[in-house]
Amino acid sequence: MSETTSKGDKTLRSGGRKTLSIGRDTGTVRQSFSGGRSKSVVVEKKRRRVLTPGERGDGHQESAAPAPARPAAPSPAPHQPAPPRPRAETPAPAAPSGRGRSGMVLKTLTEEERGARMQALADARVREAEERQRAEEDARRRAEEEERLAKERAEAQRRKEEEEARKATEAETRRRAEEAARKRLGEEEKAAGRPAPQQPAATGTTEEAPKEIRAVVRPKRPDAAKPAKKTAGGAERRRGRLTVTNALEDADRERSLASIRRKREKEKRQQSGFSPSGEKIIRDVTIPEAISVQELANRMAERAVDVIRLLMKQGTMVKITDILDADTAQLVAEEMGHNVRRVAASDVEEGLFGEPDADEDMHQRPPVVTIMGHVDHGKTSLLDAIREANVVSGEAGGITQHIGAYQVEKNGQKITFIDTPGHAAFTAMRARGAQATDIVILVVAADDGVMPQTIEAINHARAAEVPIIVAINKIDKPEADPNRVKTELLQHEVITESMSGETLEVEVSALKRQNLDGLLEAVLLQSELLDLKANADRSAEGIVIEAELDKGRGPVATVLVQRGTLNAGDILVAGSEWGRARALIDDHGEQVKEAGPSMPVEVLGFQGTPSAGDRVAVVENEQRAREISEYRQRVKREKHAARQTGQRGSLEQMMNQLQTEGTSNVPLVIKGDVQGSVEAIVGALEKISTEEVRANIMHAGVGGITESDITLAAASGAMVIGFNVRANKQAREAAERDGVDIRYYNIIYDLTDDVKAAMSGLLSPERRETFIGNAEILEVFNITKVGKVAGCRVTEGKVERGAGVRLIRDNVVVHEGKLSTLKRFKDEVREVPGGQECGMAFENYQDMRVGDVIECYRVEEVARTL
Ligand code: GDP
Ligand code: MG
Repeated sequence: MSETTSKGDKTLRSGGRKTLSIGRDTGTVRQSFSGGRSKSVVVEKKRRRVLTPGERGDGHQESAAPAPARPAAPSPAPHQPAPPRPRAETPAPAAPSGRGRSGMVLKTLTEEERGARMQALADARVREAEERQRAEEDARRRAEEEERLAKERAEAQRRKEEEEARKATEAETRRRAEEAARKRLGEEEKAAGRPAPQQPAATGTTEEAPKEIRAVVRPKRPDAAKPAKKTAGGAERRRGRLTVTNALEDADRERSLASIRRKREKEKRQQSGFSPSGEKIIRDVTIPEAISVQELANRMAERAVDVIRLLMKQGTMVKITDILDADTAQLVAEEMGHNVRRVAASDVEEGLFGEPDADEDMHQRPPVVTIMGHVDHGKTSLLDAIREANVVSGEAGGITQHIGAYQVEKNGQKITFIDTPGHAAFTAMRARGAQATDIVILVVAADDGVMPQTIEAINHARAAEVPIIVAINKIDKPEADPNRVKTELLQHEVITESMSGETLEVEVSALKRQNLDGLLEAVLLQSELLDLKANADRSAEGIVIEAELDKGRGPVATVLVQRGTLNAGDILVAGSEWGRARALIDDHGEQVKEAGPSMPVEVLGFQGTPSAGDRVAVVENEQRAREISEYRQRVKREKHAARQTGQRGSLEQMMNQLQTEGTSNVPLVIKGDVQGSVEAIVGALEKISTEEVRANIMHAGVGGITESDITLAAASGAMVIGFNVRANKQAREAAERDGVDIRYYNIIYDLTDDVKAAMSGLLSPERRETFIGNAEILEVFNITKVGKVAGCRVTEGKVERGAGVRLIRDNVVVHEGKLSTLKRFKDEVREVPGGQECGMAFENYQDMRVGDVIECYRVEEVARTL
C-alpha cells in the first residue's frame, strides 16, 4: 500500500480537507498492497437525504453501514404515511445533519405494508388532519404560555393554567362537530378507543401505537409539559434534539406522527445509551487537536472499521491506532453525519483548578508546615518529637502509620506537618507549580551553626516566599551557642526577633522534648499573621505529597487537601493519573469519609502512581478524568520525545523568552569550587547587570551541583552555572528530566561574557559541550619514562581519545586537558565503551588519585545566526 499510504499520510498531516470530500457518485478505488496484491473498493456516498413523499428513500439501502441495521423500521410503519406534506419540509430547515437521516426509516417499508397501512388509515386521515390542526393550535398557545413560565414553576400551577386553556378550547369548540367531542374523550381516556382502526396493519406494534397517538395529542392534555421537562437537560447537550414541545413551538411547521415517533424513539434510545436498531444516532463529537482513529470511532459510536473505510476511500490508509489531526477527524465525523465540537487539547484541563471562592465561604484552615535544615541538625528528631507529643486525638503511644504528613493539635488548633523533611521535596513540589507549605521551620543545630544546607533551605524558602521560623535545636548540649546561630543567620538576611527582626525563633531540644510547645505556639502565631483560609464547601483540590505502589493496596498517594472537601468515592485527577478514591485513610491509619482543607489523607484507588508534587483535583466524572490524564500523558510523552531530540532549554532560549516576555530578571543558580570564586562571580554578575536586565541569583554556593540545585532552578526557571564544579549523576539526570540548562565554566570572563551577551541579546558563537562519558580511577601506576597512568573503569557513556578530558575530585574540576594515552591492555585504542577497563594518562599532568573521575567531553562551536 505504498503509494496510497504515503500520499494519504501527507494529506493527513497537512490537514487533508480536500482529499476527504467524498464525490457524489459511486465509484471504484483500486488500491495496491505490498506484495503486488491489489483490491478494488467500491466507494459509496452515504448522503443525507431529503425525502419527498414520492421518493421515500427506497433504493438507498445499499448504503454501507446503516442499511443492515434497520430491522426496527417496520414498527414505525403504521403511522408513517399520516402526514404526507410536512415530510419534505421538515428536514430542510432543521439541524442539517440530524433530521434528514431519521427519514430513512421509511425506506424499509414494503409496498405491501404501505398499502395496508394506507387502507387502514384512510378514514382516519381526515380526522387526523383536523386533530392535528387543533393540536397545533393548542400547542402553540401553550408554547407561548410556557415561554412565560419559569422552568421551576410548580407542576401543579402549570396544570391549572393548562386546564384553563383546555376549558377555553372546549368552549370554543363545543359548537363544532361531534367529532371534536369524541376525539377529546378519546384523549382523556388516554386514547383507549382510538387506535383500534389503525391496528390492522401494525403487526406487533400494538403497544407502540397508542403511545404514538398520545405523542401527538398529548399537548392538549394537562401533563403536556412533561416530555419537555424530561428532556430539558438533554436539550442543552444535544442542541439539535427535537422534543414534542419544541417541535410544536416551531410555529408554522406541521409535524408528522411518524417523525414525532422517530424522535421519541431516538430519545428513548439515547437515554438507554445504545441503539439496538442501529438507527443512526447523531452525536456531538468533541474533537481535540489530535485523536486516534479508535478514539474518534468511540466518540461517534461508530465502528472503527467504518472510519478506516471512509478514509480509505480518500486514498488514506490508516490503522486503528493512527492519530488523525483535528481537521481530518472533523471531516470524518461530519461525513458520518455527526456534529463536531472542536477543542484545543488543553481545553480538557480548563476549569480543573481555579474558580476563586467568595470571601464569605472562606474559613480558617490549619497551617501546613515543612521542616528544613542541614543534615544531622535534627529535622527527623524534631518531626518525631512533635508527633509523639501532640498527635491529634491523643492516641498517645499508639503506633501511628506513616503517611507522609500528620496533624497535631495545639490550643485546640490543628497544625499539619509534612513529614518529608528537606528542601528537595519542598522545591520539587513548587517546581510543579504547587505550593504545599505555608510555613518553613528552619532547624539549625546550636552546636553547629549555619551550614551549607541551611543556606540552601533559606534560599528555597525565600524563592517560594514562605515565612521561616527558626528552630535552634540541640540546646541541651553543653556546647550549644544559640547566639552564634542568630548572628550567622544575620549574614543571610534572616533577622530573628531577638536581633530586632521579624523572623520568629524558638530554642528547642528535640532529644529532650524541650520547648516543643513554644515552637508550636510560634507556628500558630505565624499562621495567624498569614490569615490562612480556605473554602471547605466545594470540590476538593490538593497536592500529592508522596506516592508509591503498594504491593497489596496498589497505588497509594498521600494527598494534602488544599481547598474543598475530598470525599470517599470522588473521582480524582493527579498529574497524568486518575482514579476513584476507593478509600481515604488518615494519619492514624483509620478510614475516613472525607478530608477538609489542610488535612492529609492517603488515597487508595488511583489507576497509576502519581508523583510527589502533582496537583490533585476532583472532576465530575470518569470520562473527564480519563480525558485529562490521557492528554497529560500525551504531553508528557511529547515533552520527553522533544527533549530526546535535543530541544532542551538553553541559555539562548531562556534569554529569548525573557526578552519576548519583557522580563528583566535572569535567574541563575551558581555553584563554584571555592568561596572566593563564587563571590567573584556573583560580584561580576552584579556589575554587568543593567537597569533593564539583571542577574537574579537564586542561590550561590560552594560544591558540586546537586539535585537540589536543579530542583531550585527548575522551580524558578533558572539556569545552573558550574564554575570548576560538576553536576553529580542525580543532578544530571534531574536536569535532563526537568530541562534545566547547566553550563560549566572555568574562566570567570567566559561566564560573564556569556551572560552579558545573552542579556544584551548578542550572543557569541555558542560553545556547545557534549558529555561523552565518565571513567573512575581504580588504581594509579607509576611507569618509568611514561609517568603516571590511571587504571580506570568506564562508568558512564564511553571514553574517546582526542576528546577533552577533565579530572574531577569530589565533583570539583582539578584539571582540564587532553589524554596522552588511551589503552586497552597493551593496545592503544580509539575509544573504550562503558563497563570496560582501560589505562589513561594526561598530557602534562600527573596528580591523579584513586577515586577521581575522568570526564570526557566534546566541544563544538556553533556559529550563532542572528
Ligand atoms: P536530620 O538529619 O536533620 O534529620 O537529623 P536527625 O534528626 O537524624 O538527628 C541527627 C542527630 O542529632 C541524631 O543523632 C539525633 O539524636 C541528634 N539530635 C537531634 N536533636 C537533638 C537535640 O535536641 N539534642 C541533642 N543532643 N541531639 C539531638
Ligand atoms: Mg533525617
